[in-house]
Amino acid sequence: MEQRTGRPQHRRSVYHGTQAQRQDVRRVRTEPPRSAPEYPPRSSRSASYRRYAAKKRKRRALRRLMYLAAGLLILAAGVLAVTQTDFFPIHGGEEEPAAPAAAAAEPTAEEAQSGFIVAVDPGHGGGDIGAEGVYFDEWEMTWKTADYLMDLLEADDRFSPFMTTDGTEYEKASQRAANAVAGGAQLLISIHGNSGEDPSYAGFECYPVPPGRTYNAESLAFAQLIADGFGAANEKLRGQNGVRYIYYDANNEKQIYEVSDTTVHTDPTFTLLEECGCPAVLAEQCFITSPEDVDAFGDEDGCQAAAKIYYDAICSWYETYGQTS
Ligand SMILES: [Zn+2]
Repeated sequence: MEQRTGRPQHRRSVYHGTQAQRQDVRRVRTEPPRSAPEYPPRSSRSASYRRYAAKKRKRRALRRLMYLAAGLLILAAGVLAVTQTDFFPIHGGEEEPAAPAAAAAEPTAEEAQSGFIVAVDPGHGGGDIGAEGVYFDEWEMTWKTADYLMDLLEADDRFSPFMTTDGTEYEKASQRAANAVAGGAQLLISIHGNSGEDPSYAGFECYPVPPGRTYNAESLAFAQLIADGFGAANEKLRGQNGVRYIYYDANNEKQIYEVSDTTVHTDPTFTLLEECGCPAVLAEQCFITSPEDVDAFGDEDGCQAAAKIYYDAICSWYETYGQTS
């Protein structure tokens, strides 16, 4: 145990102690520091040792390179595992790869509730009254009917109906057709009322997209379903069972052909049918100049009854054609 008052040995040996002791310390401090002897001394190393040492350095360098490469590989793998989870799947094999599931966007609320897109064209309005009637003028009859039809379609999850015009201003048939295309219409019904000088003129007729055009077959099927509905409600069907084709000739005169005439005419039909880009039918619901017709399909409850016939026809048509188009 060291004495409590004693100084550390090295300091005392410098400043205290005997002369001999101090000389001894000085001698020790002036001697070159001792180092471990080299063995074997460099000069005396044999050629074989030098070859051995060179090989050893080479192997050590190689080992260092290998350690470095391995370290880099592990680092790279770690980066990949973090950024590309499907490169090293975290979950078991029973799951679908993560990437496609992540890529499939959640449907928006609008997409989730979207159904088959039906365009309802109210024929007239926006200042265009159409023909004058004994109860409603044509525009009012078409809007009443279109509103009732919209109510029925909107209440049915299968359908996403919209109207080709909002009625705030007059839009030509070509504009309403463009609106139908813009709205993605997959089926179109255009509602009109017929008129004649003679109040005895009466009955229902409708016009599908004519032969030679895309959607002729689907449009014809839709027209027949609608005409059948009016026929079942005891409405007189004009022409052959209420379905006809119409064209405007070079003089802009209407040319009407019965449905059995499948001749392909190049003359244009109704603009809306030509340009709406989907199966379509234009219906002349009744003669708004016929008191009898108006009572059946041209007054308030008549428009409601007509809307139900269109709706039922749309449902029947949809069951056959709606799933594939
Ligand atoms: Zn009209």
